[in-house]
Amino acid sequence: MFDLREKTGLIVGVANKRSIAWAIAQAAAAAGARLAITYQGERLGENVRELAEGLPDPLLLPLDVTSDEQIAETFAAVDHDFGGLDFLVHGAAFAPRDELSNPFLQTSREGFRIALDVSAYSLVALARGAAPLMERRGGGSIVTLTYLGSERVFPNYNVMGVAKAALECSVKYLASELGEKGIRVNAISAGPIKTLASSGISGFSSILQHYRDRSPLRRTVEASEVADAAMFLLSSAGRAVTAEVLMVDAGYHAMGL
Ligand code: NAP
Repeated sequence: MFDLREKTGLIVGVANKRSIAWAIAQAAAAAGARLAITYQGERLGENVRELAEGLPDPLLLPLDVTSDEQIAETFAAVDHDFGGLDFLVHGAAFAPRDELSNPFLQTSREGFRIALDVSAYSLVALARGAAPLMERRGGGSIVTLTYLGSERVFPNYNVMGVAKAALECSVKYLASELGEKGIRVNAISAGPIKTLASSGISGFSSILQHYRDRSPLRRTVEASEVADAAMFLLSSAGRAVTAEVLMVDAGYHAMGL
């Protein structure tokens, strides 16, 4: 459907085969892209190495997005191996478990800081690292993953909703500054999908059921469907789209009741 031949991409946020970032990696590889995939720590490194075995000549790199040093090392390695970068997929998010079950009023200063650092600031830091490599290729595309909890209240989404609001606003500021270099920055707001991250949200299965009952398509979405939307934004098909939050949620966002 989309052509990413001759393109190189960096994918951040693969934990296992259920990860949305992994679905995007598979779609991008199938479209012909060469990929660098990062993993956080050796525990996940094994998973990611196994998954990546099916990809053509992947570059695997350790990256904790809270470390400026590791971010610098990642882009140095990508630059060395790829000589530039065409796209970046940002799928990292985290909030301490208690913050996703306690009342929002009880959000701790440290929990707030961590959630915003990992889930929102990391996009800014990664975009800063990616920009010079993309500029050398005449432009690029950055895609991050967000959720409707940035605008509306979902039980227990709590500080992650605040982080997603900051993430979506960062998309707009980044798009505004990077546009003149031909770099587009967009978010996909995905409907709920069962993954490692979402299983940390207390009562997540009732959110899933609500989408099945209420969304116009009367169902939830698959990671592969989010990946198809990402292909649009990463490829030249999306060349006039930037600063956008694309809803891939079976239409749920349109409903009042
Ligand atoms: P996932 O597979 O658990 O992916 C989240 C990723 O973030 C994991 O690889 C995780 O690694 C990584 N991460 C956390 N802290 C990190 C750090 N300090 N440095 C580097 N990576 C770190 O879950 P997912 O659902 O696919 O999430 C991907 C993105 O989609 C997230 O932004 C999420 O908010 C968003 N999203 C998800 C849904 C959903 O329903 N699943 C809906 C809308 C949007 P660790 O496992 O090591 O922490």
